Amino acid sequence: MSTSPFSSCAFQQRASSRWPSRRPPSTATSRRSLVVAAAAAASNFANENREYVIVGGGNAAGYAARTFVEHGMADGRLCIVSKEAVAPYERPALTKGYLFPLDKKPSRLPGFHTCVGAGDERHTSEWYKEHGIEVLYEDPVAAIDTQNQILTTSSGNHLKYGSLIISTGCAAVRFPENIGGNLPGVHYIRDVADADSLVSSLEKAKKVVVIGGGYIGMEVAAAAAGWNLDTTIIFPDDHIMPRLFTPSLARRYEELYQKNGIKFIKGVLIDKLEGGTDGRVATVLLRNGSIIEADTVIVGIGAKPVVSPFEAVGLNKKVGGIQVDSLFRTSIPGIFAIGDVAAFPLKIYDRMARVEHVDHARKSAQHCVRTLLTAHTQPYDYLPFFYSRVFEYEGSSRKIWWQFYGDNVGDTIEVGDFDLKVATFWLNSESRVKGIFLESGSPEEFALLPKLAKSQPVVDRAKLQGASSVEEALEIASSSL
Ligand SMILES: Cc1cc2nc3c(=O)[nH]c(=O)nc-3n(C[C@H](O)[C@H](O)[C@H](O)COP(=O)(O)OP(=O)(O)OC[C@H]3O[C@@H](n4cnc5c(N)ncnc54)[C@H](O)[C@@H]3O)c2cc1C
Repeated sequence: MSTSPFSSCAFQQRASSRWPSRRPPSTATSRRSLVVAAAAAASNFANENREYVIVGGGNAAGYAARTFVEHGMADGRLCIVSKEAVAPYERPALTKGYLFPLDKKPSRLPGFHTCVGAGDERHTSEWYKEHGIEVLYEDPVAAIDTQNQILTTSSGNHLKYGSLIISTGCAAVRFPENIGGNLPGVHYIRDVADADSLVSSLEKAKKVVVIGGGYIGMEVAAAAAGWNLDTTIIFPDDHIMPRLFTPSLARRYEELYQKNGIKFIKGVLIDKLEGGTDGRVATVLLRNGSIIEADTVIVGIGAKPVVSPFEAVGLNKKVGGIQVDSLFRTSIPGIFAIGDVAAFPLKIYDRMARVEHVDHARKSAQHCVRTLLTAHTQPYDYLPFFYSRVFEYEGSSRKIWWQFYGDNVGDTIEVGDFDLKVATFWLNSESRVKGIFLESGSPEEFALLPKLAKSQPVVDRAKLQGASSVEEALEIASSSL
């Protein structure tokens, strides 16, 4: 008796021989007949073989699936193995429209399935079925055998893959259990189940504490203020968004948050979270001895790449995550990694990077699948782009939306009046524009930012400093393009 669970399967060869990761277009016709035969044989995925497998049903997976469909390579050939119970969706919505007060039209699925964020149609679970894509829900991959190209899911399913794309994203960093990190009422927000749990806490909440002053903390605190809840943000740094905002930009934001009733406790560390008599979180104890009451705590202290069980594929020591080249190939033929989990060469700044933002999730997915399915060998040349939107619910006195492109290195020049719009330019010692932040810009103004950050023109520093408005500053910068 054979010991291999795949001994009767038609597809037994290694990905590198039977399913090369790039196919020249000249083979397209002969491939097509093979494809039809393979699709007919595997359209109901009756055995363990999958030609293409994506692990992780998140943002990047949704855009990867769309690219497979665009290339006519999904039907009967693509399988997505997902930990979540729903089809891929635009994750940023979870701390934005999803947390609007219940009477202010909060977003709910299916409204924000991928790929609505890119202005495309929304792909519900039906779309995957219609396109012959198998999605295994709530069955995370628990083990990989790279030698035999076999994945084992937590329910014990075995899947043999031809090419594998890892898109497991990140997980929220948690407080340990011994300091109250798992108490009822303590929330982390990464997926829609987390967001649902937070919404049900907000419905009953009176005192909310948000721990962390990054973009999750900022967005959740703004949302809690929309529910008219007593809200406090606590963080160890001197100001919010320390990794991007300059101190003066942060001060303007903090003032706006304070106008919305949000309190700040800065420069302190958390000692522990303690439960009340009902076992639910009741107090936040700070290292400086202060005690803050809270019935709902949201912890937004960062995220870490979900590399397990793929460590054997090769990790990057500096930035974490699964190391890939500029075509998203790992060191093992036939295995790729995209999105938050991938450590890739950031060509424009000549360094390895991991980018935990949705724009990169979308673009890396598209680039990787195009490389996998065609003769496309253009290296990924990504320009970092971050954005956020807060206080957007109906009735908010000031809606905030900002975008940042490039690298926030060098000296800064800030222009504008926060009540209208504001911009920050990062210039290096040669006065080249390295990064640019704009809040409340028009679509035309926002469209200028990637052009400036990409071409990094030398600007007249004195003129930029003297600009009396954001419009004038953008005019000065764009005249140097
Ligand atoms: C609340 C929130 C708000 C955000 N807001 C913004 C924003 O405003 N702007 C911005 O640019 N970016 C934002 N981001 C970041 C953005 O959402 C991510 O960069 C993007 O989702 C990354 O896509 P991904 O597919 O790599 O990972 P994810 O979208 O996280 O998807 C990973 C998927 O893999 C699954 N998974 C993990 N392990 C396994 C396994 N072993 N087997 C199977 N499945 C597995 C996970 O459950 C998840 O479904 C936000 C993120 C969060 C959490």
